[in-house]
Amino acid sequence: MTQRQFDAVTVETVQGDIANQPDLDAIVNAANAELRIGGGVAGAIHRAAGPGLEQECIPLGPIRPGDAVISAGHNLPNAHVIHCLGPVYGRDEPSDQLLASCYRQALMLADRNGIVGLGFPAISTGIFGYPLAAAAQVALQTVRDTAPTLETVQRVRFVLFSDADLAVFDRALEEL
Ligand code: ADP
Repeated sequence: MTQRQFDAVTVETVQGDIANQPDLDAIVNAANAELRIGGGVAGAIHRAAGPGLEQECIPLGPIRPGDAVISAGHNLPNAHVIHCLGPVYGRDEPSDQLLASCYRQALMLADRNGIVGLGFPAISTGIFGYPLAAAAQVALQTVRDTAPTLETVQRVRFVLFSDADLAVFDRALEEL
């Protein structure tokens, strides 16, 4: 685990499952446009949350790349889930700006809802094909740039699925 402080926000990286972060107020879903169950992160979150999550989410969609919406956590240990639609790499352009928009909108939505601890997966780096090191840079830079505007958010945790992915985020965080 690596930690860095940006203004009042502690940013940390861990290896783990985004759907099993019980000490955080909210987790972020790498959602699909329709906010349906899907695979990867979305599958893990919806399985853990139960069918009530999809029922709440479908009327909130469809969303566009770069957008974020908030729902309750249902059977998750977290009070809220923030659903972001990342860019499909090579299709949704400019992909770096759309990816940054996901992180910025999620952080601002968390702040408006009084969230203190928020967990992110590496949005767009699975099925959507965004190269991990480049995605890590965008993610961490956006948290650093947004941190001064945040009032309630104090902890941002990046939850990486593998040790190899964690090492990439750790390096990006150290070099920022
Ligand atoms: P996207 O469609 O935005 O690319 P994916 O869900 O396919 O989203 O994957 C995003 C990233 O999350 C990938 O790096 C993938 O390895 C990782 N991942 C998949 N499942 C989990 C999980 N349960 N917890 C944390 N990270 C996960």
